[in-house]
Amino acid sequence: MNRNETKRVQIGNIFLGGNNQILIQSMCSIKTSHIKKVIKQINECADLGADLMRVSILDFKDAYAIKEIVNNIKIPLICDIHYNYKFALIAIKSGAKKIRLNPGNLNNKEEIEKIVNLAKKYNVAIRIGVNSGSLNQNIVRKYSNLETYKLIVLSAIEYIKILENFDFYNIVISLKSSNLFDTIQAYREFSKISNYPLHIGLTESGFDEVGIIRSVACLSPLLLDNIGNTIRISLTNDPKKEILTCKRLLHDLNLYPNYPTLISCPTCGRCEVKIKSLARKTLDFLEKNNVNITVAIMGCAVNGIGEGKKADIGLAGGKNKFIIFKKGKFFKEVKESEALNELFKEILLIKH
Ligand code: SF4
Repeated sequence: MNRNETKRVQIGNIFLGGNNQILIQSMCSIKTSHIKKVIKQINECADLGADLMRVSILDFKDAYAIKEIVNNIKIPLICDIHYNYKFALIAIKSGAKKIRLNPGNLNNKEEIEKIVNLAKKYNVAIRIGVNSGSLNQNIVRKYSNLETYKLIVLSAIEYIKILENFDFYNIVISLKSSNLFDTIQAYREFSKISNYPLHIGLTESGFDEVGIIRSVACLSPLLLDNIGNTIRISLTNDPKKEILTCKRLLHDLNLYPNYPTLISCPTCGRCEVKIKSLARKTLDFLEKNNVNITVAIMGCAVNGIGEGKKADIGLAGGKNKFIIFKKGKFFKEVKESEALNELFKEILLIKH
């Protein structure tokens, strides 16, 4: 099912699925009962572009923290519930806008019915969050001959039936695994047979470039197949890094238009300047000033101007002097010490 054809689901004051843009989400890395720190982290992530944030509910202290957290943040909060349905009831009454349930550890129908009834009353969505590491063991035993990705899909379908039997349809699905191929196949398979919106992500992907590369390798084919209505890149890092990585990935796939593009050359023996720090400072400047254009930072004028011709503006380095170019054409020569300031001035002129 194409992402635009998925069902539209309301999460607080925003919508996911259907024609709505892909939403970016992350998860707090702090215990939920540490309320002030959690609020700070959620607000920092929201300022960076998070549309939704999730917190874990491990105990009653966490569950009762939700009310104060919700009252001090500006984006919808998702609560992650495992094992104890009572945590879900408290979270819903406290203002959570979406509840994530794991079919692997919350499958008593009477308990699910209680959650569903309250979710209906409070207009709260439920994400059926299937994870290959905690599949429903009844399904695993019953279909032991099936491949993992099929078991993941089957777990989601079985749980959807339970919720639909209680006349509940405000559903989002995730089908995660730490195995890239299982994840891709599960989402592709599921999207052929259902129009519920999908939260996509690769779980436990790792840290820094390890996690980023694995997640991008997994999520790009899905996004290019028009699969996925919300996205999380799960990293062993601060959640703020997850938000920035999601934005960059979506932008590079033309799915997050209002964001700057920075091109910088890999450098070679011709390069006589410190390109990486110039590129970093330029990207920071573009992001801080919301200038959504393409800028090239190149190591030499010999090839830099031509190679950076798709950029709106660029800087080509040289010993003691730099060249500012626009759309692949020479604009002016500037001293090395003034190069960035001159570039930033021209960038702001383009913005206005
Ligand atoms: S732009 Fe110049 S310095 Fe950079 S890689 Fe190309 S030739 Fe080398």
